[in-house]
Amino acid sequence: MAVLAVWLAAAPAHGAAQAGRTASVRQSAVVTALVGATVIDVVSGERRRDQVVVVQGGTIRAVVPRATWRRPRGARVVSVMGKFVIPGLWDMHVEQALPLWDRAPVDSNAALFHPLFLAYGVTGVRDVAGSMAVVRGWRDAIARGEREGPRIIFTGPKVGMAAVAPGAPFPLATAADVEATVAALKEGGASAAYLLALDPDLFPALEASLARHRMPLEGNVPLSTSLRAQAGMGQRVVDHMDGILVASSTDEDAVRRTLQLVDTPTWWSRLAWRIGLLTRPEYPSALALEAFSEPRADSLFALLAARRVYQVPTLRLLGVLNRSGDSAVRLPPAPLALRPRRPFNGWPGEPYPSDHALARTQARLQWSVGAMHRAGVPILAGSDTPNLYAAPGLSLHDELALLVRSGLTPLEALQSATWRVAEYLGATDSLGTVAPGRVADLLVLSADPTLDIANSRRIEMVMARGQLYDAARIDALRARATRSASEIETYWIRRAETAR
Ligand SMILES: [Zn+2]
Repeated sequence: MAVLAVWLAAAPAHGAAQAGRTASVRQSAVVTALVGATVIDVVSGERRRDQVVVVQGGTIRAVVPRATWRRPRGARVVSVMGKFVIPGLWDMHVEQALPLWDRAPVDSNAALFHPLFLAYGVTGVRDVAGSMAVVRGWRDAIARGEREGPRIIFTGPKVGMAAVAPGAPFPLATAADVEATVAALKEGGASAAYLLALDPDLFPALEASLARHRMPLEGNVPLSTSLRAQAGMGQRVVDHMDGILVASSTDEDAVRRTLQLVDTPTWWSRLAWRIGLLTRPEYPSALALEAFSEPRADSLFALLAARRVYQVPTLRLLGVLNRSGDSAVRLPPAPLALRPRRPFNGWPGEPYPSDHALARTQARLQWSVGAMHRAGVPILAGSDTPNLYAAPGLSLHDELALLVRSGLTPLEALQSATWRVAEYLGATDSLGTVAPGRVADLLVLSADPTLDIANSRRIEMVMARGQLYDAARIDALRARATRSASEIETYWIRRAETAR
C-alpha cells in the first residue's frame, strides 16, 4: 500500500491547488482518437482488430470497434490503421540520478534520460539509486506536466552503500543507525528500502524499523543473509537474481562462507590462498554453479512463488559482462552508448567460450528465469540503465528479448513491463492495460509484438499521460537526448582537462 500512496501522490489529478491549471484544463477538454489499430490485451493475449482508442485528459475513455464509433465534435483523429497498440512499458531497474561521469551534475541527467525513455516507449520507471530530492523533483514536475518524462517511483539510495540522505548515518553500525536510515527513506518519499549490504547482527533491527515505518524491503540479497531468510522476512523484490545460485546449491552455508571470504578477505584467508591451503575460486559464481542442485532450486522457486517475491533479473547486465555474441544484447549508437562510471573493459569484444564461468552463469541464470516463471514467480523487466552501456529506453527492449530467450512467451515478456508492474503497484485499475479508465500511456507499433518480441522496437507513436508523440516528435526527443549526451560528455572532458 505504501507504493500505492506514492503512486497516488504522483498522479496529476489529485490536489486541485496547482499553478498553471488553466493550460491543463484546456488540454483535458481535447479528445484524441487513435483509429483503426489492433488493440492487444496484454493480460489475456486477445487481439481486437480495428478499434478506436479514445483519450481525454490523460485517461483512456473508451476502446470500441471502429464500426460502432461516432466521432465527437472537435475530436483530434489520428489514423493508426493496421498498427498495434500496447500499454506503455516500465523499466523496473534504472539508476538515472547518479553522476554519469565523475562529478558531472546529476540534474543534467534528466535531459538525457527522459527524452530517451519516452522515445523508446518507456512511460514508467522504478529508480533504485541516487538522490531522493532530485528524483522526487523530477517525478513531481513530470506529474504536474511541467517536464516531459516517464512516471517515476523510487527506492532512494541503496542501504549499505552510502548515507541515504544528507545527515543520515553511515556506515550502519547500530540498530539506531538502521532506524535513522529507514526513517530518512520514508521521509524522502522512497517506495521501499533497497538493501545492498548489512551486518548480519543488524537484520532484526532492519525488520523492526521496516515494520515501524511500513516500508517494504527490496533489492539485493547480501552474502550476510540467505534468500530463504529474506523471503521469510517479506522481501518484496529481488534485483539481479541475487542469492538465487547460492540458495540453490547443495551446501548453501559453505558456499556462502567461501564467497564472503572472496568478497572481504581476512589476513588468514589471504595466507591460506597463498600457501594453497584453500583454493580461491577463479570466478565466484563458479563455486555456486558447481554446487547447483535443480531440486534445491525447485524448492526455492516454490517458496518465492508462494511468497510472491518479484524478480527483476536484469539479464542484459550479465550478457554484456559475458561479452555475449547474443544478438539480443546490442551496443547502442554513439553517443548514447554511455560510458560506464567505472573503467570497464570487455565491450565490444569476443564472446567468452561457452565453458567459461561467466557464460555458464549466464546460461544457468537464464534457465532459472524460465524455471521461476513456470513455477509462478512474478518477473519484472529491468535494464539497469545506464550501467554497462545500457542506453535509456532502448536497453529495456534488449531485456525483453532476453526474457523471451529464457522461456517467457513474447506476451509474457510484455506483461513483465506492463501488467505485472500494475499488479506490483496495486494499481491494476489504473495502469498496465489499454482499457477505459486507465492512464493514457501507450505505444503504437507497426508490427505485432506477441508474434516476435523484436517488434516492441518498431515504435511508430508513443502516448505518455495523454500526450501524443508522433514520428516527428519522437525524432525531436532523440535529437534532444543526443545533444544532451554530447554536452554532458563535453562537460566531463573539460573537467578532466582543467584537472590536469
Ligand atoms: Zn542497478
